[in-house]
Amino acid sequence: MQVTFEEFINLVKAYNPDEVEIITKAYRFAEECHKGQHRESGEPYIIHPLAVAWILANMHADRDTVCAGLLHDVVEDCDVTLEQISREFNPKIAELVDGVTNLTQVDFKSKTERDYANKNKIILGISKDARIVVIKLADRLHNLLTLQYKSQEKRIKKAAETMQFYAPLARYIGAEVLRRKLEDLSFKFLNPEGYVETSKIISDYSNQTQLSTNQMMIDIHRLLEDEKVPHTLKLRIKSVYSVYQRIKDGGKIENLHDFLAIKLLVESKKECYNALGLVHSLYPPMPKTFKDYISQPKPNMYSSIHTTVFGPELVAVQMQIRTHEMEKINLQGLTAYWDLFQGKAVDVMQEILRDKYHFIQSVKELSRIMKNSQDFVQGFEQNVIGDKVAIYDGEHQVFVSAGSTAIDYAYSRGQEIGDRLDSVFVNGQQVDVSTVFEQGDRVHLILSEYPHGPLPGWEHISTTVQAQVSIRRGMRKKYAIHQ
Ligand code: MN
Repeated sequence: MQVTFEEFINLVKAYNPDEVEIITKAYRFAEECHKGQHRESGEPYIIHPLAVAWILANMHADRDTVCAGLLHDVVEDCDVTLEQISREFNPKIAELVDGVTNLTQVDFKSKTERDYANKNKIILGISKDARIVVIKLADRLHNLLTLQYKSQEKRIKKAAETMQFYAPLARYIGAEVLRRKLEDLSFKFLNPEGYVETSKIISDYSNQTQLSTNQMMIDIHRLLEDEKVPHTLKLRIKSVYSVYQRIKDGGKIENLHDFLAIKLLVESKKECYNALGLVHSLYPPMPKTFKDYISQPKPNMYSSIHTTVFGPELVAVQMQIRTHEMEKINLQGLTAYWDLFQGKAVDVMQEILRDKYHFIQSVKELSRIMKNSQDFVQGFEQNVIGDKVAIYDGEHQVFVSAGSTAIDYAYSRGQEIGDRLDSVFVNGQQVDVSTVFEQGDRVHLILSEYPHGPLPGWEHISTTVQAQVSIRRGMRKKYAIHQ
């Protein structure tokens, strides 16, 4: 990806003509600061902040975000202070730059400690301004795109860190397009053979099924036209890394019920359900594949109807039915709001982070329990942005970290609940408290009247950092009382 300033500024002009002046000023300022600095590729350093700002402008990011993208490395790599940015530009831009600037104190005991402290800082920054995560992700994306110029050791480190932290963050904010890119690029560096092999499997199977999927698109199009339902059809292919994860243990691509998917985009929610009926009138559905993420969106607000059907030649194709607006949010997550809400986007993003994702609350809760950066960041990776499964506790659907047991779930609801955990019923059967919950489990915790504290061995049974920290604390308390 090589972008010139002219291309960049033309893109800005197209969606935000009023802010061209200040954005140009930010570019000139950054160019001056980075003068004489070079990337590992030998190119002038400025191509990096320019590329980051270009990625942001493609999302139609607001003025302050684009400026911060241009200026994101000047505090870290040049002798520029935040006060200076605040004076030259505005305090908001300075705040955003601060949010993505690494801590540079020299008193960290190790690189690992510094890395955790930096992630800790990013997480707390996001609580104040969601745009920090987007700038950070754009920065990471461009770093991965130019990773071939780094040493092998650095490549592996960056790629692994992306898989662990940045790609899940992208998924968390619903930025699916970004997540796919981050994951596939990292995967390529971490496992080059796996990447090539999986890509080949994907293209072979796609070619092999092309006639069937084409035929389906034609038939669905005709039927919806007859029924006068305005619509758009798109074929979507699963990303290399997601396919790899599903077939690495011997799975076959033709058995994935969602490898091939056709997106059917319509105008309204009502038409989604209408279209579902029409699709089922053409093709028989595969049992147990129907999901209604419109009535119950995923935690990151992904909304769609899914149903896998058998098309021509009995090829399994997942139909993803949703509105155009859902599609935009499904692909871009929080970043979709720059287009959907224009000037109010920043407030809307922060509101969603707080009220829909419960981000602020989770982070507050974590920082109350976790006393050092490492525990905090690991807890965050697990509890906040990690894989989740949905369970039912009474009437309520609850998302718990994948791998959670009753112990983890109890402590996720608070120290006291954990300390009172007695036994657990899953789907009506009493099971051991070490049993790992599965998607859709109906869970009922039996609590003792008074807290008895954690039992010996719980620390090793629990899988979440949060439960482990709470158990250690509970143990200390219990031990102190009995002394
Ligand atoms: Mn950078």
